[in-house]
Amino acid sequence: MTSVEDLDLPAGVSPTPLALLLLGRGSDPDSERGVDCPGGLPDASDPSLVERARAARAALGDRAFVLGHHYQRAEVIEFADVTGDSFKLAQQAAARPDAEFIVFCGVHFMAESADILTSDRQQVVLPDLAAGCSMADMATFDQVEDAWDVLADAGVADVTVPVTYMNSSAAIKGFTGRHGGTVCTSSNARRALEWAYGDRGAEKVLFLPDQHLGRNTAVLEMGMSLADCVLFDPHKPGGGVTPEALRKARMILWRGHCSVHGRFRLDAVADVRARIPGVQVIVHPECRHEVVTAADQVGSTEYIIRAVEAAPPGTAFAVGTELNLVQRLAKRHPDKQVVFLEKTVCYCSTMNRIDLPHLVMTLESLAAGQVVNRITVEPETARYARAALDQMLALP
Ligand code: SF4
Repeated sequence: MTSVEDLDLPAGVSPTPLALLLLGRGSDPDSERGVDCPGGLPDASDPSLVERARAARAALGDRAFVLGHHYQRAEVIEFADVTGDSFKLAQQAAARPDAEFIVFCGVHFMAESADILTSDRQQVVLPDLAAGCSMADMATFDQVEDAWDVLADAGVADVTVPVTYMNSSAAIKGFTGRHGGTVCTSSNARRALEWAYGDRGAEKVLFLPDQHLGRNTAVLEMGMSLADCVLFDPHKPGGGVTPEALRKARMILWRGHCSVHGRFRLDAVADVRARIPGVQVIVHPECRHEVVTAADQVGSTEYIIRAVEAAPPGTAFAVGTELNLVQRLAKRHPDKQVVFLEKTVCYCSTMNRIDLPHLVMTLESLAAGQVVNRITVEPETARYARAALDQMLALP
């Protein structure tokens, strides 16, 4: 097996122990999630898994509230009390103050946000601690602190406001709150930027960690040009940007992306249009700029769900988002044609780590009085992250 030391990485890049992450062992202090996953996992082939999950869920009753992200597997979604995108699920967690346990079937940063937004009395658990997010991992706290120093050296930190996507670690949300910025989602990114440049008086925004959402929002919704955006690469000295370019830029985009949405290519759009005449191409704003520009509609996961629901029977959609959701939409709307935009399989591998065995282990442990895989955010970080999340909730 290739060891981390054997990887051919650019100078100055400190690798995360991906090999360990894939095996679900050890811990990764540089990552937004740990990877230890204690607890006796039932065998995936155990034919009684569904019955065991039902029994444990019933035993927990109102003491537990199970949240399921849209990208989760069907076998897990079946047990969700509510489904939604990361923001809706965080709101739902906060709206259930009586639930002792919030079982978050999603990824680590979502469970962190739920912990920040719920009371101290409530405990948030993630069925598999290895369910992280590669995009969130692309901006570590130390990297962002170093980037802020680069901005200060260029004389622009004072006129820059950080805006971080919900898909970031609590540490990055805390950084954002400490510097008077806001969190945003793919639904309210435009409002977040309008607030930053308007009420907050920013000359520049440091947009973390998804370059594509930042660029697409700035160019397609805020009327900026591509030349107004610079890409800050944390693996290059000075971010790979000259101080002069930083001074000229209006959007400083962090070099991060989603491993799922970043895979959709422009030729897939042309290909599906040739195969299915009249097809509506609908994509998530985490897709590359050229893909979003070539699509018919762009919007958040919730937007995509609503658009497919609202379309008349017979409408054909090619959807550029996570495959579990696309398959669910196709099943839910047999009167419409719903296909996946890419030809290759495109599940989110970390979302998919949460499966029925992990859910059964979690529910049975909680029912037996043992809290496993609890996610907690350190109080100081939580306080500033909460400020950035509250700022998002207060966006006009
Ligand atoms: S779909 Fe992309 S942004 Fe969402 S959890 Fe997976 S890697 Fe992260």
